[in-house]
Amino acid sequence: MKIRKAIHAGYCWGVERALDIVTDTAAAHPGETVRTLGPIIHNPHVVQSLEEKGVQSVNDLDEMGSGTVIIRTHGVPPETYEHAKAKGLNVVDATCPLVTLVQNKAKQLVQEGYHLVIFGNPRHPEVIGTIGHAGGKATVIEHPEDVEKVHLPKRVGVVVQTTQETELLAALLAHLAPRCKEVKIFNTICNPTIERQEAARELARDVQVVIVVGGKNSSNTRHLAEVCREEGATAYHIEDATELDPQWVKGIENIGITAGASTPGWLMDQVVERLEKIEPAV
Ligand code: SF4
Repeated sequence: MKIRKAIHAGYCWGVERALDIVTDTAAAHPGETVRTLGPIIHNPHVVQSLEEKGVQSVNDLDEMGSGTVIIRTHGVPPETYEHAKAKGLNVVDATCPLVTLVQNKAKQLVQEGYHLVIFGNPRHPEVIGTIGHAGGKATVIEHPEDVEKVHLPKRVGVVVQTTQETELLAALLAHLAPRCKEVKIFNTICNPTIERQEAARELARDVQVVIVVGGKNSSNTRHLAEVCREEGATAYHIEDATELDPQWVKGIENIGITAGASTPGWLMDQVVERLEKIEPAV
């Protein structure tokens, strides 16, 4: 069995930056309450390791009476900063600068008079935060074909969730173009996402099975699995090596492995080690 890793996989710089911010903040406030608002990244192993170091996550600011709250990579609406400050909390912002860019572009489109369309998952915190920064008014399109189900004015401005799949964006535009007189789009898919998707595509063309490692609630990891399937490979999305089923790779000669932007390298290494135990490399 041959195992190949995607050339771009695992932690992106936005996630590394956020984890450094958490570590530095905890070190700067020993003995004080330091919490992240929501899990800092969509990876349960990393979140658990931070909890062991005393940095828990809260789902709501009202779960905190005092201390420091860290805003995660996905960002939050402006009201959340205001609420935290009104409660007297110290706010440390780990929003990824590429998410801030989406928020700013959304605001710009609204100021220019476009009806804002956000192409992404309406339940994802990045999309919820972006709506807030754009003044609360936007149409969120989750699937390109959903364009046919909503009423849109003639002038629309589009921003895209950073972890969206690039091929789906082309499909969205094909649906929008016949329905609108003017479409202004900022392709805000972030570069680490594009690199990981391209690397996953390339890998999936050369192997029969791809193991995609990352949190089940991580959009960019889920998209990597979809991209591999689009290229004809069988893709399995797992959170760690314990989920690996030996039957998936039985008799398979070429296996690929990739990981989402919130997956630490050691989790990928453990999956490779387990694969090598199931069937020794040739
Ligand atoms: S996936 Fe992109 S937007 Fe999200 S944290 Fe990484 S670099 Fe930032």
